[in-house]
Amino acid sequence: MKAVLFRQHGGPGVLEYTDFPTPEPKPGEALIRLRAAALNRMDVMVRNGWPGIKLELPHINGADGAGEIVALPKNTGTVVSGAPAETKCGNGENKLETGDHVVINANLGCGTCEFCLAGKDNMCRNWHLLGETVRGTYAQYVALPVRQLYRLPKDFDFHQAAATALVYQTAWHSLVHRGSLQKGETVLIVGAGGGVNTASIQIAKYTGAQVLVVGSEARKLKGAESLGADILIDRSKEQDWSKAVFLATNKRGVDVVVDDVGTTFMQSLRALRKGGRLLTVGNSGGPKFEIDNRFMFAKNLSIIGSTMSPLSEFTEVMDLVVAGKLKPVIDQTYSLENAASAQERLWRNENFGKITLDIPGSTGLLCL
Ligand SMILES: [Zn+2]
Repeated sequence: MKAVLFRQHGGPGVLEYTDFPTPEPKPGEALIRLRAAALNRMDVMVRNGWPGIKLELPHINGADGAGEIVALPKNTGTVVSGAPAETKCGNGENKLETGDHVVINANLGCGTCEFCLAGKDNMCRNWHLLGETVRGTYAQYVALPVRQLYRLPKDFDFHQAAATALVYQTAWHSLVHRGSLQKGETVLIVGAGGGVNTASIQIAKYTGAQVLVVGSEARKLKGAESLGADILIDRSKEQDWSKAVFLATNKRGVDVVVDDVGTTFMQSLRALRKGGRLLTVGNSGGPKFEIDNRFMFAKNLSIIGSTMSPLSEFTEVMDLVVAGKLKPVIDQTYSLENAASAQERLWRNENFGKITLDIPGSTGLLCL
C-alpha cells in the first residue's frame, strides 16, 4: 500500500510517501480501505518525538480516518469479547459487513481490563491512541478491532467523517459528560480555530448554552460566529480578556471555561463565576504553567480533565453528526502525498477547523 511514514523523528522533511506492507488483520480485526484521514496536532508532536518516546519505526501518523471495510473477521457480528454491551456500530445495528462505510474511533481500549469492562475504555489500563503509539491512518489501509468502527450512511462524506471522530468525541465527553453542561449556562471557549474548539462551540450551542469565544484573529472569530458563538472577544485588542468576559456577563463570570491552551489558565480562572468549572483536554501552549491557588479555593472552582471518550459516547456524538445536528468544519484538504505541507499549516495555527488528507484509491490486487 501507499503510506506516509517516517523512519526517524524530526521536522516535516522526515515524512516519506512510499510503499509499505498492507497490515494483516489480527483475530477480531477488520481491514479498512481508507478514503480520508484527518490531522491532529498530536501527529506533529509524535513526528517531532519527545524524550522517552518509543515507537516501532517506521511509524505512520494519523488518528482519524474513514473508509470502507474490505475484510472482516469470521463470525463477526460485532459482539467482541469485552466490548461494552451497549456498543453499536452505527445507526442502532450491530452487524458490520464488507463494503460498509465506516469512521474510525482512535481511542483503543484493550477490551478486557476493569475500565473497559465498565464501559470506560478511554481510561483503559493498556490504552493506545491510533497514530500515536501504533501505526495510524496516513495510509491506504489500516486494521482495527471491529468495535472501533462506526457505520456511516453510504452517502456520508468520508472527509466530514474523518474530520469528526477524535475532536467531537473529545469535546462531547468533556462538555457533556465530565463537565455536565446544562441548557442556559454560559461557556467560554479559549481559542477559535482548532478542531476541538470548533466542535466545542457547536456542542455547547446544541446543549442550549450561551457561548463566548476569545480569539486573536478576526477571520477565526468570524468563523466562530458562523458556528453560533454569541459573544466574541478579540484578544489582540483586549490583553486582559478575563475582564472583558466579566463585563460581558454582568460582572458574574461564566459557568464553564474550555481551556486547551494551558498557559491561559489564570485568565480562565478569573473569568469563571464562583463555583465554576474549567474543562481541559490538552495544553497547546505547553504542559507546565503556574496558577494562583487562592482562586481555586476562594471561588470554589473545579478543574476537570478528560481525554477522548468511551465507545458508547462516540456512538452518541456520531449519531448527532450523521443526523446533521453537528457539522464538522473542514479547513482544507491535501493529497496524502502532501501530508508534510498539511502538517505545517496545522502547526502554524493557520487552520479554521480540520485539515484532511485525500487517500488515493489502491491499485493492484489485495491478497488476504
Ligand atoms: Zn482496557
